[in-house]
Amino acid sequence: MTKKPVIAIDGFSSTGKSSISKIIAKKLGLIHMDTGALYRGVTYFALQHCLNDNNLIDIPELIASLPKIQLEFQNVDGELKLFLNGKNIDREIRFPQVSDYVSQVAKEAEVRQFLLATQRDIAKKGGIIMDGRDIGTVVLPDADYKFFMTASQDERAKRRFLELELSGEKTDIETVKANLILRDKIDSEREVSPLKKADDAILIDNTDINKEETIDLILSYIKKF
Ligand code: C5P
Repeated sequence: MTKKPVIAIDGFSSTGKSSISKIIAKKLGLIHMDTGALYRGVTYFALQHCLNDNNLIDIPELIASLPKIQLEFQNVDGELKLFLNGKNIDREIRFPQVSDYVSQVAKEAEVRQFLLATQRDIAKKGGIIMDGRDIGTVVLPDADYKFFMTASQDERAKRRFLELELSGEKTDIETVKANLILRDKIDSEREVSPLKKADDAILIDNTDINKEETIDLILSYIKKF
């Protein structure tokens, strides 16, 4: 049997990267790692421990505190959940307050460097699908397959809003759309590891196709192993 592949899936916020990657991982018997969760975990820590007098994240304090942050994925009933210093924070990292701040935190070079080793270590053995913003360009430039996902802003806002509504968060579609536009802007324009399609990535636009069709499209590119 040939070696299990390493698959990188990057793209804009709320294109379905993580949920689609999770299903593909199950179908192909690969590990799935949602790297956005790591940036969210650092942001959640900062909101708890590194606020200044104006209730904003104090970036230098956060950078000085990075050694106090231990993030790890643990298998809970077959799903990888994120733990921060021993506490399951899988629900907390989806809070709107974390979404509002995460791109500010993720643009810091020290934060990115801090999370790089965790991501690369997990990919060493192969057999992984990793989703994020800079996986195909920076984290795993030698990945066997690279995909870059996009969809219209309206469609993405609608999907994210429905997801938040289902999980009981009170918000409205305009707020959700504003957050994703802002995050995309900060993510694409940052100096370190900006969000961009790798030259050799396959573009997947799922504005007009549903989740199952997106999964089938991605799977159609992956050779049997
Ligand atoms: O994927 P998700 O939307 O949960 O990611 C949250 C944020 O984490 C992104 O908006 C981006 O700022 C940051 N991120 C990143 N690089 C990655 C994954 C996520 O900068 N590889």
